[in-house]
Amino acid sequence: MKKSDLILTGLIFVGLIAGVLVGQFLLFDASATKAAINETVGPWQSAGELIFFRPLQLMILPIVFVSVVAGVASIGDPQKLGVLGLSTLAYYIATMMLAITLGLGLVTLIGPGKDLTEAERTALTTNTGELPGVVAQMSEKFDKKNEEAEAPNTSLGNILLDLGKRLIPTNPVAAATEGNTLGVIFFSVLLGLALVAVGEAGRPVIEAFDGLFAALIKLVQWIIWVAPLGVFLLVASKIGSVGLEAIAGPIATYMFVVILGLLIHALVTLPAILFLLTRINPFRYLWALRKPLIFGFSTASSGATMPVTIETCKTSGECSEQATNFVVPLGATINMDGTALYQGVAVVFLFQFYGVHLELGELLVILLTATFAAIGTAAVPSAGLITMAIVIVATNNSLVAYGREADQLPLTAIGVILGIDRIQGMCRTAVNVWGDAVGARIMTRLAPDDEREEALS
Ligand code: ASP
Repeated sequence: MKKSDLILTGLIFVGLIAGVLVGQFLLFDASATKAAINETVGPWQSAGELIFFRPLQLMILPIVFVSVVAGVASIGDPQKLGVLGLSTLAYYIATMMLAITLGLGLVTLIGPGKDLTEAERTALTTNTGELPGVVAQMSEKFDKKNEEAEAPNTSLGNILLDLGKRLIPTNPVAAATEGNTLGVIFFSVLLGLALVAVGEAGRPVIEAFDGLFAALIKLVQWIIWVAPLGVFLLVASKIGSVGLEAIAGPIATYMFVVILGLLIHALVTLPAILFLLTRINPFRYLWALRKPLIFGFSTASSGATMPVTIETCKTSGECSEQATNFVVPLGATINMDGTALYQGVAVVFLFQFYGVHLELGELLVILLTATFAAIGTAAVPSAGLITMAIVIVATNNSLVAYGREADQLPLTAIGVILGIDRIQGMCRTAVNVWGDAVGARIMTRLAPDDEREEALS
């Protein structure tokens, strides 16, 4: 490791630990009102966003566009791209399903929502905080507070149709400004293929994209130097707004199940898959990826972390440029192992909390819908909490189909786990990032750079 990299890593770790300590012991005040807490942590959060989060976000769109065009053009052969694309999708879906299955197994086995005392239940249901806007709106419709509103269609077919519409936007620029990364990726893949198909005429453009990509990576490397301070400010503001106490209390066992699941997935399942498919030392790779993992944790956004994931996969992670450029942007958009696992655990926990026993059929519905909900989750903080509503509605529909109308879960139940979502969001995002990075290393076997060099020479 270079000396400068060693210093930077050390400083980022110091920023992380100092952020937790300052957030907990200087900023957090358990007796303060929500407004007072916001007033205290607000400036810290704004400063962190300004110097660190926003510059990272600024890089997302150019990096997605340029890296996917350059990556696809360097692969060139549509058949090879097809194999890489399908293998990548298979990896994403398989690992998300493994994560949810693990989560469902753990939450059923441990039953964190089952044996709560009445006092603990009251504490959780009375102190629920405000539901995010979209969930509150859906809850209006589903929980029939607003009889006239037409309930949105959350059938599997509709979720797929929605995904299809995001994939094929009618205007690439509008897709970009609306943050529809999937649409941008689709357009970039087609453009990359077309640039190769036009032969000589496309060559200077491909070279320009390669140059642009190198410049964008340089920009990311500059931003990384702000990370120690940025990580410190963001972590301090997040811990300062909820306090580590949020992890304890009546919800501690639920939190434990989610964290245990995330740890098993990150430290056992993914390393085992990585080792089996590449024979490299997965823990050495984990260490090489420490920067994006900490970035994911502190920003709670795998989208904002993506530029750093790409940079690190290619440098310390020794992934091929071809695989990284294509697999990481796609992964940051649709591959969310941590979110998928969390949604499975959270939904079953909430049903347990309300005394409803779910049969195998409902668990299968959760497995399927949580996979699609995680795919559809935006790579921004707390997005997984919002798409979880889809999983609850689908489970309710399944209960109704079996004549169990009374067992339906009101969407307002999400309020029970709202308080700890920030901290949980940080943990699951780090796992989302790790899943993308493992994918890039595995796909490097299918698209190594030496073949690229041969093709270009
Ligand atoms: N914040 C997560 C991410 O960016 C998504 C989630 O909320 O689960 O990956």
